[in-house]
Amino acid sequence: MKKNEEKVSFGEALKLNWRGFMLVYKQRPQMIVSRLVAPIWDTVVSYLVIWLSARVIDELAGNRDVERLKFLVIMTLAVTAVSALISAFIRRWRDIENVATWFEVIRIFINKKASLDYADLDNPKTHELISAIEMNRRFTGGGLFRVVGYFENIFRSLFQIGGGLLLTISFFTSRSTVNTGSVISPDSPLITIAVAIALIVAVFLSSHMKNKADGIWASKAKTRVYGNRAFGHYGWLGCDDGAAADVRLYEQWKICGKYVANKVSTFESKGLYAKLCRYPVGVYYAISNGISILFSAVVNAFICVKALAGAFGVGMVAQYTTSTTRVFFGIGSLIQLYGSLKNNVPYLKLEFELLDMKNTLARGTRHVEPAREDEGIEFRNVSFKYPGSDEYVLKDVNIKFRTGSRLAAVGMNGSGKTTFIKLLCRLYDPTEGEILYNGVNIKEYDYDEYLNMFGVVFQDFYITDFKLGENVSAGPITDPEKVMECLEEAGFGDKLREYKDGIDTYIGKGYGWEGVDVSGGENQKIAIARALYKDAPFIILDEPTASLDPLAEADIYSKFNEIAKNKSAIYISHRLSSCKFCDEIAVFHEGRIIEQGTHEALLSNEQGKYYELWHAQARYYT
Ligand code: ADP
Repeated sequence: MKKNEEKVSFGEALKLNWRGFMLVYKQRPQMIVSRLVAPIWDTVVSYLVIWLSARVIDELAGNRDVERLKFLVIMTLAVTAVSALISAFIRRWRDIENVATWFEVIRIFINKKASLDYADLDNPKTHELISAIEMNRRFTGGGLFRVVGYFENIFRSLFQIGGGLLLTISFFTSRSTVNTGSVISPDSPLITIAVAIALIVAVFLSSHMKNKADGIWASKAKTRVYGNRAFGHYGWLGCDDGAAADVRLYEQWKICGKYVANKVSTFESKGLYAKLCRYPVGVYYAISNGISILFSAVVNAFICVKALAGAFGVGMVAQYTTSTTRVFFGIGSLIQLYGSLKNNVPYLKLEFELLDMKNTLARGTRHVEPAREDEGIEFRNVSFKYPGSDEYVLKDVNIKFRTGSRLAAVGMNGSGKTTFIKLLCRLYDPTEGEILYNGVNIKEYDYDEYLNMFGVVFQDFYITDFKLGENVSAGPITDPEKVMECLEEAGFGDKLREYKDGIDTYIGKGYGWEGVDVSGGENQKIAIARALYKDAPFIILDEPTASLDPLAEADIYSKFNEIAKNKSAIYISHRLSSCKFCDEIAVFHEGRIIEQGTHEALLSNEQGKYYELWHAQARYYT
């Protein structure tokens, strides 16, 4: 075992797999019934057929009573036919339950990801964790879902062993009637003990070899995950319509090739996996199979010797050889399960690392009242560092923003404007200081109610490939009139009238063949319409006009002033001319608000940053 590979005790493996099983069970309790019925039924039927076939052979080799033979053959056929039908039904039921359980397992992760704090989701470590879990699930099936299979395997093995032993007991009790002249009598308990020891040794060695081989696959999971992840990302870049132009113009397949090569070298015919298949994995599997074949040969020879000695007929030979093999495989799969439970631990650990992540963002219970006129939002000595970073992105920010007013945040790129909005919308909590709404720390409010107060258009807003109306209402279209009004207000009206399906038109080609492609500016208008539809008391535009030309931007801003009506509005823009009309302008610089006031007041300070920025931009527009 390599130094960095963690040794797992069986107790720990059992505990973790059990925890996984209970989690899936709670999500879909009914799956357990089909998973139990299937192994019981399969075992009962297979042993019944073995028993009946043995009786047919016995009758053929013995009395040859035609009536009895007829009865036995018909019974065997009937049992086989009926059981095949019932088995097919059970298998189908189990498969349906399987698919449903699979989705439930995926749902566990979807719900978890959706409930994570934004700060955690924004953290590269979380991305890596989620990606590793998804790759494991897709390419090895390891983790929660596999635990359900283990549960079924335990039952299947136990039934197999129980049924096999039941059909084998008479082998040990039957006595020879003919002297074969062998040194030790086949009836001797010594022989029985020797066979039992051989069974234990063979089954242990064979399973141990298989477990070793499986353990090697599991230990290489990281290499596989990286290889597949690189392939999953770079392998598909050429087909991604968002990236296709850049990939072609810059011949980016050269980068892709470099990363995909990692996968190829891992999986190619001379790569790591091919080598492993030859040695040691292939060798371990070969030894494992060799041992089980050797054991079957020894046991079968012993059964034949006892049959030769007249202890039982030919039919019983068939019964014993088949049932001892099944007992062998039953015990083998139990032992393998021991290894499998351990091999599943690394996958489960990653999954539980994600599922156990706690929400650290404070979630209060205070009901959100409408903003009081004399109050609003206040940042008090707010400083902020992004998680995992030592640098302050905001430092000592103090600002009061009265209800119903218009605030503009301006400043150079990277000065902290978007971060200021993210703190306001509680995507992150301040590292120091506090933000107040109606005079109360925003951490005390019910989180969802608080978020409902903001209609935001972020710089990197996201519009889905669903219907236009669904995008605006951020869900099913329940109020088409309002959807159309908001689109009109956001300046999308003319475009909307061009669409024959109106607000039912699909955006992009992801889900509707007749979907439309929209420009960056049009996309932004849809995002603005979505913010308006929310009808929230605060409306925030974070440079939403980046893809618009200056005229279109001026149009949106002047319109927005009307649309915003009595709402409180915050604008972030790199074009100062768009913010002239605001009641207050805050100038951000290197994480601080260095100036604050009306456009006229700020412009009168010739030494100020605003003055400098204004004149720098004015050169381009005058
Ligand atoms: P602005 O909106 O004024 O352009 P931002 O608030 O987006 O500025 O960024 C301020 C600083 O914070 C920048 O230096 C940026 O690199 C950094 N930053 C932004 N987002 C993150 C993040 N998720 N993690 C770490 N640093 C970030």
